[in-house]
Amino acid sequence: MNITVQKFGGSSVADTEKIKNVARRVSQTRKKGEYVVVVISALGDTTDRLVRLAYEISPHPRERELDMLLATGEQISVALLSMAVNELGYDAISFTGAQVGIVTDGAHTKAKILDVKVGRILEELEKGKIVIVAGFQGVSLDDQITTLGRGGSDTTAVALAAALKADACEIYTDVDGIFTADPRIVPEAQKLDRISYEEMLEMAATGARVLQLRSVEFARNYGVVMHVRSSFSESEGTWIESDERMEKAIISGVTDDSGEAKVTVFDVPDRPGSAASLFEALSKANINVDMIIQNVSEGDRTAISFTVGEEDLEKAQEISETIAGELGAGGVTVDKDIAKVSLVGAGMRTHPGVAADMFNALAENGINIEMISTSTIKISCVIPAKDVNKAVSAIHKKFGLDKGVVMHA
Ligand code: ASP
Ligand code: MG
Repeated sequence: MNITVQKFGGSSVADTEKIKNVARRVSQTRKKGEYVVVVISALGDTTDRLVRLAYEISPHPRERELDMLLATGEQISVALLSMAVNELGYDAISFTGAQVGIVTDGAHTKAKILDVKVGRILEELEKGKIVIVAGFQGVSLDDQITTLGRGGSDTTAVALAAALKADACEIYTDVDGIFTADPRIVPEAQKLDRISYEEMLEMAATGARVLQLRSVEFARNYGVVMHVRSSFSESEGTWIESDERMEKAIISGVTDDSGEAKVTVFDVPDRPGSAASLFEALSKANINVDMIIQNVSEGDRTAISFTVGEEDLEKAQEISETIAGELGAGGVTVDKDIAKVSLVGAGMRTHPGVAADMFNALAENGINIEMISTSTIKISCVIPAKDVNKAVSAIHKKFGLDKGVVMHA
């Protein structure tokens, strides 16, 4: 059975005309003889609206209730899309995540998928139906409704593609694919035809906003080929697959992320265990720490800075203050006005000098670097938030990405 999974994001189903457009697209694929499983997000900015409503009621809504609320968005869109497909003379059936058996752990608002049951989907496909599944949601082992974190419909789609051994997982969105930089910042940014899982993981982790990070991890782990493309045109988008099959780019792209904040604990006694107690406390509170630097100590005192998502800043500050007190440190400062710019490319492994060129691009524009972190295929710098657009443009230009991606064997 040739199964194609097609996922459409919120902007592709923002109103009834757009829902009808999606209905036409999935029907066309069915007409070609493919079996189609569709995953969709909530209409337009529905999820944002639901989140706002919750916080108007309570500053700290319980996460179980948040999931009950947020999961309704996708239930609306699957039902409407199913009606639109039926209207075109094709047979469709909609399901919630719980109905098809997308089984998750119990971590409300950021649940992980444990198992995907495909029996019910296969049964309906065999009857010739187009199966439409609500993205972003699942059901926990103790029968609670869960959601997979913002952008989670991408992960639903990849998980279904893996479980169904689908030919491909097509991610339809409002842009033409993955670009060398955010085209709203750099108009000369180029669409990438292909990118490896590894590079896409770094791009998603450092701020490319097209795909949920976890969907790419899932795709890599299960070898699902993803195709990110526009729901409003027929043109090819960006293929994400294993890099054995492709020519390697030296640099694939520049990403930016203004959603982090920096915490500094200063005057920390420089002795074994200080960093351990701080980061242990943060991890116990489920706070993801991104970059960390510890300064050279002066006398027997040092400073530790780290970045966290802005949404975790309040909690991270509280915990850091408690630990600072216990350690006898000087205190804690926080800075929200930071941004991270990153350069991603598999070719960095074999091309020395990439880091120096990136730092030079920033220096030539008078941009001060506050923190640096690297992996084998990525360099990230924390800079003042006000400089972020200038930084992305300067780095993009420095590596000649506006003229297309440079390949090497
Ligand atoms: N509707 C959810 C969100 O806005 C899930 C998704 O769009 O993938 O985050
Ligand atoms: Mg999305």
